[in-house]
Amino acid sequence: MGEKIFIDKTGGCICGDIKFKVKLDEIPLVFNCHCIDCRKKIGGMMTIILLRDKAIEIDKSKLKIYEHAGGSGNKIKKHFCGNCAAPILTYVEKYKKYYLYAGLLDDISFLKKAENIHFKDSHFPFMEISDNNTKV
Ligand SMILES: [Zn+2]
Ligand SMILES: [Zn+2]
Repeated sequence: MGEKIFIDKTGGCICGDIKFKVKLDEIPLVFNCHCIDCRKKIGGMMTIILLRDKAIEIDKSKLKIYEHAGGSGNKIKKHFCGNCAAPILTYVEKYKKYYLYAGLLDDISFLKKAENIHFKDSHFPFMEISDNNTKV
Protein backbone atom coordinates (compact mmCIF):
# COMPACT_ATOMS: atom_id res chain seq x y z
CA MET A 1 0.00 0.00 0.00
CA GLY A 2 1.32 3.42 -0.95
CA GLU A 3 1.36 6.27 1.50
CA LYS A 4 -1.64 8.56 1.59
CA ILE A 5 -1.03 11.82 -0.18
CA PHE A 6 -2.52 14.95 1.30
CA ILE A 7 -2.84 18.33 -0.30
CA ASP A 8 -2.94 21.72 1.43
CA LYS A 9 -5.60 24.15 0.30
CA THR A 10 -6.84 27.55 1.39
CA GLY A 11 -10.25 29.12 1.34
CA GLY A 12 -12.52 31.75 2.79
CA CYS A 13 -15.86 33.49 2.56
CA ILE A 14 -16.91 36.34 0.31
CA CYS A 15 -16.41 39.11 2.91
CA GLY A 16 -12.98 37.81 3.94
CA ASP A 17 -13.71 37.54 7.69
CA ILE A 18 -13.31 33.77 7.55
CA LYS A 19 -10.13 32.28 6.17
CA PHE A 20 -8.95 28.71 6.58
CA LYS A 21 -6.31 26.19 5.69
CA VAL A 22 -7.36 22.64 5.07
CA LYS A 23 -5.60 19.34 4.48
CA LEU A 24 -7.45 17.17 2.00
CA ASP A 25 -6.95 13.76 0.49
CA GLU A 26 -5.49 13.92 -2.99
CA ILE A 27 -8.86 12.68 -4.22
CA PRO A 28 -11.29 13.92 -1.58
CA LEU A 29 -14.77 12.56 -0.99
CA VAL A 30 -17.13 15.12 -2.49
CA PHE A 31 -20.88 14.96 -2.29
CA ASN A 32 -23.64 16.94 -3.92
CA CYS A 33 -26.43 16.88 -1.37
CA HIS A 34 -29.87 17.54 -2.81
CA CYS A 35 -31.87 17.06 0.39
CA ILE A 36 -34.56 19.52 1.34
CA ASP A 37 -32.63 20.75 4.40
CA CYS A 38 -29.63 21.76 2.29
CA ARG A 39 -31.86 23.37 -0.29
CA LYS A 40 -33.56 25.45 2.36
CA LYS A 41 -30.24 26.35 3.98
CA ILE A 42 -28.38 27.59 0.95
CA GLY A 43 -30.99 27.91 -1.76
CA GLY A 44 -29.86 24.99 -3.88
CA MET A 45 -27.87 21.80 -4.04
CA MET A 46 -24.85 21.91 -1.77
CA THR A 47 -21.44 20.52 -2.57
CA ILE A 48 -19.52 19.35 0.48
CA ILE A 49 -16.21 17.64 1.16
CA LEU A 50 -15.83 15.12 3.97
CA LEU A 51 -12.99 16.27 6.23
CA ARG A 52 -10.66 14.09 8.20
CA ASP A 53 -10.44 14.87 11.92
CA LYS A 54 -8.51 18.07 12.62
CA ALA A 55 -8.01 18.68 8.91
CA ILE A 56 -9.03 22.32 9.06
CA GLU A 57 -7.34 25.33 10.65
CA ILE A 58 -9.95 28.02 11.23
CA ASP A 59 -10.75 30.78 13.73
CA LYS A 60 -14.06 29.53 15.06
CA SER A 61 -14.76 32.72 17.01
CA LYS A 62 -16.07 34.41 13.87
CA LEU A 63 -18.39 31.55 12.98
CA LYS A 64 -22.04 31.45 13.90
CA ILE A 65 -23.81 28.15 14.35
CA TYR A 66 -27.33 27.16 13.39
CA GLU A 67 -28.37 23.82 14.83
CA HIS A 68 -31.21 21.68 13.60
CA ALA A 69 -32.35 18.07 13.56
CA GLY A 70 -31.44 16.15 10.42
CA GLY A 71 -33.68 13.72 8.62
CA SER A 72 -33.02 10.92 11.10
CA GLY A 73 -33.32 13.19 14.14
CA ASN A 74 -29.57 13.64 14.51
CA LYS A 75 -28.12 17.03 15.23
CA ILE A 76 -26.67 18.99 12.35
CA LYS A 77 -24.70 22.14 13.05
CA LYS A 78 -24.32 24.56 10.22
CA HIS A 79 -21.38 26.93 10.71
CA PHE A 80 -21.53 30.16 8.77
CA CYS A 81 -19.80 33.52 8.62
CA GLY A 82 -21.30 35.90 11.16
CA ASN A 83 -20.85 38.79 8.76
CA CYS A 84 -21.69 37.63 5.22
CA ALA A 85 -23.57 34.43 6.16
CA ALA A 86 -21.56 32.26 3.76
CA PRO A 87 -21.86 28.59 4.77
CA ILE A 88 -18.46 27.25 5.86
CA LEU A 89 -18.83 23.92 7.65
CA THR A 90 -21.53 21.44 8.53
CA TYR A 91 -21.06 19.15 11.51
CA VAL A 92 -23.01 15.91 11.46
CA GLU A 93 -23.28 14.55 14.96
CA LYS A 94 -24.25 11.06 13.79
CA TYR A 95 -20.87 10.60 12.08
CA LYS A 96 -18.95 13.08 14.27
CA LYS A 97 -17.61 14.56 11.07
CA TYR A 98 -17.19 18.00 9.61
CA TYR A 99 -18.00 18.69 5.99
CA LEU A 100 -16.59 21.72 4.20
CA TYR A 101 -18.67 23.63 1.68
CA ALA A 102 -16.54 23.03 -1.40
CA GLY A 103 -17.24 26.38 -3.01
CA LEU A 104 -15.34 28.15 -0.23
CA LEU A 105 -12.04 26.78 -1.51
CA ASP A 106 -9.93 29.28 -3.46
CA ASP A 107 -8.97 26.59 -5.97
CA ILE A 108 -11.60 24.09 -7.07
CA SER A 109 -9.82 22.79 -10.18
CA PHE A 110 -8.85 19.50 -8.50
CA LEU A 111 -12.46 18.56 -7.66
CA LYS A 112 -13.09 16.33 -10.64
CA LYS A 113 -15.73 14.02 -9.24
CA ALA A 114 -18.69 14.23 -6.87
CA GLU A 115 -21.34 11.77 -5.85
CA ASN A 116 -24.96 12.80 -5.65
CA ILE A 117 -26.76 11.99 -2.41
CA HIS A 118 -30.30 12.48 -1.07
CA PHE A 119 -31.63 13.37 -4.48
CA LYS A 120 -34.75 11.24 -4.58
CA ASP A 121 -37.82 13.45 -4.92
CA SER A 122 -35.83 16.56 -4.02
CA HIS A 123 -33.36 17.43 -6.78
CA PHE A 124 -33.98 20.08 -9.36
CA PRO A 125 -35.44 18.38 -12.44
CA PHE A 126 -32.95 20.20 -14.67
CA MET A 127 -30.01 18.44 -12.98
CA GLU A 128 -28.94 15.20 -14.49
CA ILE A 129 -28.58 12.41 -11.94
CA SER A 130 -27.33 9.14 -13.37
CA ASP A 131 -26.02 5.81 -12.14
CA ASN A 132 -22.41 6.85 -12.58
CA ASN A 133 -22.60 9.93 -10.37
CA THR A 134 -24.68 8.67 -7.49
CA LYS A 135 -23.83 7.04 -4.22
CA VAL A 136 -27.15 5.42 -3.36
ZN1 LIG B 1 -28.41 17.72 2.50
ZN1 LIG C 1 -17.86 36.36 5.53
